[in-house]
Amino acid sequence: MTTPKDEIRDVELRERLTPEQYRVTQQQATEAAFSGKYVDHKQDGTYTCVVCANPLFRSDEKYDSGSGWPSFWLPLAGDRVHTKLDESHGMRREEVLCANCGAHLGHLFPDGPPQSGNRFCINSASLDFVPKDD
Ligand code: FE
Repeated sequence: MTTPKDEIRDVELRERLTPEQYRVTQQQATEAAFSGKYVDHKQDGTYTCVVCANPLFRSDEKYDSGSGWPSFWLPLAGDRVHTKLDESHGMRREEVLCANCGAHLGHLFPDGPPQSGNRFCINSASLDFVPKDD
């Protein structure tokens, strides 16, 4: 059920996020492969939720999956993301969401590198990046 509070939050998000960030995080859209700004991003630091700034992933667990989306083999901590079964678009996938605000981030696939066997396939549009200070 949509409450007046949800409507205020939605107006705030539509103003603050780009249309692409809004479609991905609030409407479960997927950005086009190889289109996102963090696909080939290799700087050291932390990837945060673009909606609520929750720290989600680190550059240490980012790897080049060749898929066209930023890929991580582990989240920063287990409690930062949630997963839930997604049967949309005729597929059976595990959706990955921000555990703090519920933003849609991407999907989890069981074809990751040997460190975990997991591939967190994440839309650049759901992320912000905070470089590590040195
Ligand atoms: Fe969030």
